[in-house]
Amino acid sequence: NLRVLLARRPNGAPVAEDFTVERGSMPAPSLGEVLVQHRYLSLDPYMRGRMSDAKSYAKPVAIGAVMEGACVGHVVESRDSRFAPGDAVMGGFGWQQYSSVPAGRLIKINEDEAPLSASLGVLGMPGLTAWVGLEDIGQPKPGETVVVSAASGAVGQVVGQIAKRRGAKVIGIAGGPEKCAFVTKTLGFDACLDHRGPDLGAALDEAAPDGVDVYWENVGGAVQAAVFPRLRDFGRMVMCGMISQYNEAPGADVSAAPPGPNLGAVVRKRLRIQGFIVSDTGWPRYGKFRAEMLDHMKSGLVWREDVVDGLNAAPEAFIGLLKGANFGKLVVRIA
Ligand code: NDP
Repeated sequence: NLRVLLARRPNGAPVAEDFTVERGSMPAPSLGEVLVQHRYLSLDPYMRGRMSDAKSYAKPVAIGAVMEGACVGHVVESRDSRFAPGDAVMGGFGWQQYSSVPAGRLIKINEDEAPLSASLGVLGMPGLTAWVGLEDIGQPKPGETVVVSAASGAVGQVVGQIAKRRGAKVIGIAGGPEKCAFVTKTLGFDACLDHRGPDLGAALDEAAPDGVDVYWENVGGAVQAAVFPRLRDFGRMVMCGMISQYNEAPGADVSAAPPGPNLGAVVRKRLRIQGFIVSDTGWPRYGKFRAEMLDHMKSGLVWREDVVDGLNAAPEAFIGLLKGANFGKLVVRIA
């Protein structure tokens, strides 16, 4: 059972030495558990939080423990009547080839509906995140202007395509011309702005001359500073993530930073700024989400994956995710 452990807590951006790749024993399923052979591992920004012991909404990974992560794969052995060998499932655990997990945590997947790896992206946690955040907070209406940061990524690509289907004008923000071309030409957003360009504010003024009704926040920092003052009255800011801050050195408690000087605008413009964590309310709604997404996929919703091969490549791929090296939903194919 090849696996990747957390060797130490990163100081700033993670480096290869923060991980150990080793061979461990095969996990044996107890009564009520299922042994899953992983085919794909999802790499996600939240894992940076699990590597740190700073206060958060979830417990950190212990030093020497297998890195946390969601996997899809096939059942090898089942000690629960709901699963049988050969079943395709989502809910495998960790950066490793095999896991034994409680049957209640697994969801059976129909592989005829979509390739297995899609259940880690467009039909998995990131897609569910997009759907929940739009349902509960963003609520775009026909004719409104929606801005999505990290637009070519796992969450962003789904947010924009759902918002388009709800009649909104959708503007993506992404890093570099190649990602921007994908966002407009393949995903069908109305425009995409390069956050590495000289003046994001001016580009926003041109693309959204009347301002922004919904801002989907994935990155924070300079992008947020450019979009926030352009929110219109009754605008919504869906606080999904702030990846530009995830490598802040320990001790720099960003949540303790004083409010910015612009919060007066929240009152004046009657803005709604709301954070959310998909696991709070998302999974009980997974069936409804999946059915809707499969309909969207039949009617042309596209998704892009960035597939890397083998668990040995997982640390470097994850390090790259925090710098924008990925192009689409990042997954590891496991031999
Ligand atoms: P992506 O597939 O979008 O990959 C991350 C992208 O973020 C990169 O490709 C890059 O895009 C951008 N990025 C990386 N570093 C920086 C930086 N320093 N400054 C600006 N942009 C950067 O990841 P996901 O779709 O999986 O996640 C997107 C966001 O959603 C993250 O903040 C994540 O934490 C959050 N999230 C929140 C959830 C919740 O429950 N609240 C659940 C799932 C995700 P580019 O090159 O275009 O800049």
